[in-house]
Amino acid sequence: MRFWLCLCLLPAAAAAQPPKRILLITDAEGVAGICRQEQTEPTNPELRALLTGEINAAVEGFFEGGADEVIVWDGHDGSRTLSAQTIHPRARLMIGPVGYTGTLERGYAAIAFLGQHAMGNVQKGIMAHSFSSLGIQYMKINGRPVGEIGVWAALAGSWGIPVILLTGDQAAADELKALVPEAELAVVKEGLARYACISLSAEAAQQTIRRAAQRAVAKIGRIRPYRVEGPVTLEIEYTTRHSLNPDLAVLPGVEIVDDRTIRYQGRDLREAWQRYRVR
Ligand SMILES: [Zn+2]
Repeated sequence: MRFWLCLCLLPAAAAAQPPKRILLITDAEGVAGICRQEQTEPTNPELRALLTGEINAAVEGFFEGGADEVIVWDGHDGSRTLSAQTIHPRARLMIGPVGYTGTLERGYAAIAFLGQHAMGNVQKGIMAHSFSSLGIQYMKINGRPVGEIGVWAALAGSWGIPVILLTGDQAAADELKALVPEAELAVVKEGLARYACISLSAEAAQQTIRRAAQRAVAKIGRIRPYRVEGPVTLEIEYTTRHSLNPDLAVLPGVEIVDDRTIRYQGRDLREAWQRYRVR
């Protein structure tokens, strides 16, 4: 009898829904007003102000939309751009080269991208690249070209975590839309070429982002996680700056295709990704 009484006292929503905990993955090349390479230097004061302004607008929107917790990861170039001094007081800041899988294992209701750029080789993608503009030519999962957006989306999907929002340039937005059509998109600039763009003002970008973040939280539970099923081949073509480690060929699931190309096989995405990351 007392048992039933206890259950009745629990608010129905709290019992049914896990906390809305959001991981916000941040980068630099997709921030409004950032269009030249030297602006992406982590110590650049303009980048820091513009990026932090967009992050805080997103955090504000997430909480307005009903988020319980927001973790902001400083994902750009060595995790040296953001500061706890200026980050939104209700957000928590994750700093350092965190492993993708270790991070996602902590459990989130959703992930979101902010300041995101498109994958390498995309026309009109402002400073588009896949993980490393100097080191990697392209990356493919089961033959499909991917960059940070595709890899994060698929890894998160393997934990059942959906992508609910992307802010960045038009090319990055198009890239996520092809994978997760229901995700909210806040386009803050349009690429004319690799280093040429038409951008919103910081204020207009922040307003757009805040509204999109608010709408995105309402979609938690309705957006399907993006999943890559079955055995996975992760193929990476490095640039000529990269010297292949000849010992790689003896590792299980690793195939050296040519002087600059390696394939990592796995029974699923996580295994293929681990073989690449811990090589
Ligand atoms: Zn990036």
